Amino acid sequence: MAKLVRGLSLLLLLICSVSTQWVSGSVPKVSAERIRLIKEIQERLNVSFQCEFSISIGDTRKYAMANSGGIIIVDRSFLQNADRGRIFFAIAHEYAHAYLEHDVRLFAMALDQDAAPTKSAVEARRRFEKEADGIAARKAKEMGFSIDSILDFILSQPDPEKGIPFEYRVYSKPRERADYILTVYHSS
Ligand SMILES: [Zn+2]
Repeated sequence: MAKLVRGLSLLLLLICSVSTQWVSGSVPKVSAERIRLIKEIQERLNVSFQCEFSISIGDTRKYAMANSGGIIIVDRSFLQNADRGRIFFAIAHEYAHAYLEHDVRLFAMALDQDAAPTKSAVEARRRFEKEADGIAARKAKEMGFSIDSILDFILSQPDPEKGIPFEYRVYSKPRERADYILTVYHSS
């Protein structure tokens, strides 16, 4: 079981690989205000998703990560340095992955396939990322988080898949991703 959980966590790392590295020499302190913020986000998302997920603080070297057991880990440096909209979006995106059990579904697909990642696995990951973005955009609207800071979050990231042909990309290009999020936000 522990092996399976480790395997699933590793897969999640792949699902949500975002390029920015949050590496720091010392462990940054998280303020009481930020702790309250993630508690507030956790409570509101749990009510909205009708689930009992929990958010922890860790060093993820990206914004946040999750597994379908309902453990969300938000990166300590990101939590301390980003604004409310960015933090909400990163967490809500991970909630969507966890709620829809994207890691388990990818794991099942991987077991069904031979060693090399196939085009259909990439397509599934792309679909899951878009799905998580759409759900996070709707939750942001519902809960009053700023779309401007979410768009800025997406557009200010370097493209983690720059130069990769479309058929192998998991994420849309930042501009397309932001446009999709904006469309869902305004249509919900
Ligand atoms: Zn993701």
